[in-house]
Amino acid sequence: MNNAAQNGATTLVIGAGPAGLTAALELSRTSSPCIVLESDGVVGGISRTVEHNGYRFDIGGHRFYTKLSVIQDLWREVLGDDFLTRPRLSRIYYNNGFFDYPLKAGNVLGHLGFLEAAFCVASYCKARMFPRVPEDCLEDWVVNRFGHRLYTMFFKSYTEKVWGISCREIHSAWAAQRIRGLSLLSAARAAIFHSSRPAAKSLIHEFHYPRHGPGMLWNRVAAMVRGNGGEVRLNSPVTRVHWTPGGVTGVEAGGRYYPAGHVLSTMPIRDLIRILHPAPPGYLSEAASLFHYRDFLTVALILRVRDAFPDNWIYVHDPSVKVGRIQNFKNWSPEMVPSDEFTCLGMEYFCFEADSLWSMSDEQLIRLAGEELGKLGLCAGAVVVDGAVVRTPKAYPVYDATYRRGLEAVRRFLAQTPNLQCIGRNGMHHYNNQDHSMLTGLLAARNILGANYDLWKVNSDEEYLEDDIVITRDELEALRETQPQVPVKRDW
Ligand SMILES: Cc1cc2nc3c(=O)[nH]c(=O)nc-3n(C[C@H](O)[C@H](O)[C@H](O)COP(=O)(O)OP(=O)(O)OC[C@H]3O[C@@H](n4cnc5c(N)ncnc54)[C@H](O)[C@@H]3O)c2cc1C
Repeated sequence: MNNAAQNGATTLVIGAGPAGLTAALELSRTSSPCIVLESDGVVGGISRTVEHNGYRFDIGGHRFYTKLSVIQDLWREVLGDDFLTRPRLSRIYYNNGFFDYPLKAGNVLGHLGFLEAAFCVASYCKARMFPRVPEDCLEDWVVNRFGHRLYTMFFKSYTEKVWGISCREIHSAWAAQRIRGLSLLSAARAAIFHSSRPAAKSLIHEFHYPRHGPGMLWNRVAAMVRGNGGEVRLNSPVTRVHWTPGGVTGVEAGGRYYPAGHVLSTMPIRDLIRILHPAPPGYLSEAASLFHYRDFLTVALILRVRDAFPDNWIYVHDPSVKVGRIQNFKNWSPEMVPSDEFTCLGMEYFCFEADSLWSMSDEQLIRLAGEELGKLGLCAGAVVVDGAVVRTPKAYPVYDATYRRGLEAVRRFLAQTPNLQCIGRNGMHHYNNQDHSMLTGLLAARNILGANYDLWKVNSDEEYLEDDIVITRDELEALRETQPQVPVKRDW
């Protein structure tokens, strides 16, 4: 990699989310000049913590779980005693009842009844005997592994709420990345025998969480970057990225031009393509329209109630309400609320910016969320005393029929523009959690310092072949390991 940083040229990082701040921290630790330009007034990106009248909540509850020791070590280093270990309880609300999650055989049977359970087994056997080939879409992938009946009950409605499109339109690559290795037998084994094998990702019963939410981590990392001599500039949206054949030369943000030795971009790929100046080659400009996103609304409800329900979060499969998931933030950390007499729930709605839901006023959304809570019978009698709404555009990069073509075009351009690296979740249109978003930032920074990592292999099915201290063999294996072993992957 062109090593401008060693010559003192500044690295510009677009976005102060986990990927951008991790990259900046790594660069600042080696005294490489870097400036983070963030459009928002706070750091953390989708992993920020919102504060409202003393209550704290996440954009979707953010579990801290990773198999990457380099990331785990960083979390521990930054958070110290504020890195809490919290018990996990999450259930599925379906058909007027609660199903334990991870699934437990007795609990499932109690709700479904033996006849329905027998139908599920028959449907599973049929799927195994007559699998759908080829497995083009998510529906095929799940039906082949669980049968149509379980797919309909535990997968279809929630997944379609999340993505807003039919499971037939979602590429099977999504399943391959997020729920690969899953089988009905392993789910049943875990449910019935409480398997003594090491817990798979979704079966863990506790997780780490910062005392004041994920924003606590990112505020501290930003302070560390500044302490090391780097800059983090808020309210500085990047509106242009200047390039010439062979490399980027600078960016415009807040009416100012910043010359660049390197640029690391965590902004959504579609937006990045559209602000390249001059306009990029036709093949790349046309690729911008191949990337699609799902947007996300958090309606925080403050209730005068001490113990609303014991879960950290509840998945709502019931199609009669729009809410997809409900977080109870005081169960994530007791210090997310200023007084134990109150509860702060995060009612989560998956939608598109064009939907009427998105453009409802905050008051209307708070009213809707309160009504839906009542309809579900949760927190009966509790009074909603306050509320807040946060709209998060492009919360989810969508894996549809076109995004792979888009990525090919982007990678072609990046190969010819070596001082521009795309990192993170929307930056790579890759469905990364914090840990993998951070890892791409870390490796990109090391590339600037002289290494040669292929960031596109992080959190992918391809083997990561670099032999380097950053990724040990075990960590490499972790990148390739299966994730949950239950019929529904719902940590999105
Ligand atoms: C509902 C939900 C739940 C999640 N739960 C978990 C979880 O439990 N555990 C977990 O580890 N991860 C979770 N994640 C994933 C996690 O949020 C992401 O992996 C992580 O935030 C991605 O980091 P990033 O830096 O790549 O991008 P982002 O967090 O999106 O940050 C990008 C930053 O770039 C800024 N930006 C964009 N455009 C510009 C511009 N033009 N100029 C300047 N700045 C710009 C944005 O304002 C933002 O601050 C969840 C995500 C969602 C949506």
